[in-house]
Amino acid sequence: MADHPPESAHPRLPTDTDNGLLLIISGPSGVGKTTITRGVERSIPGSVFSVSYTTRAKTDADVEAVDYHFIDHDEFQQLIDEDAFLEWADVFGKRYGTRKKWVDEQLARGRLVILEIDVEGAKQVKAKMPEAFGMFILPPSEDELLRRLQSRKRESEELIAKRFAEAQHEIREAKSCQVYDEFIVNENLENAIADAVRLVENARNGDR
Ligand code: 5GP
Repeated sequence: MADHPPESAHPRLPTDTDNGLLLIISGPSGVGKTTITRGVERSIPGSVFSVSYTTRAKTDADVEAVDYHFIDHDEFQQLIDEDAFLEWADVFGKRYGTRKKWVDEQLARGRLVILEIDVEGAKQVKAKMPEAFGMFILPPSEDELLRRLQSRKRESEELIAKRFAEAQHEIREAKSCQVYDEFIVNENLENAIADAVRLVENARNGDR
């Protein structure tokens, strides 16, 4: 019988490449992380944003399946039991997780797969996939971060104080945990996006 090459699980698409990269972007709330993440996604062809699963309540600003997949606690627990998550963490009392299967499929296609996740999740990813590239977004200063959190007027004073304390803890943890390859200070949004894009493109070309 003639030998046939094994059939690929994913037929090759014109947009597939040979240099997939898993990119982790983290940073405290209020630092401009989501805007930077979406800026990187828009600037780099073939990049895809990983839509996380969460048990937190959907707000008016959220779009289902674009920002998150909103599921309840039992559904989340079932995905944990099925070992469906690449990583998951409890953030501000709610669960957030990244679906493993989707990430693997996208990486197999050579895409730049962007995970916007917290430090605990980033540690889990880096332990399983050390080749992942980690970027952490920093505020210009802690005072400036507090000012930005206050100016969002999204939360009560009490919640802002809690977010600020969490942010300080997260920054300290990020600096000491050895998960992040690069730290970007978001002084100016356009420059921060340009820095992030340059660093990711270098990492994708193998220069770190
Ligand atoms: P928010 O509810 O404000 O959108 O996100 C709260 C925090 O959860 C942010 O720090 C965000 O990066 C983090 N987060 C979002 N998705 C995931 C995820 O899938 N895994 C982990 N570990 N953290 C996530």
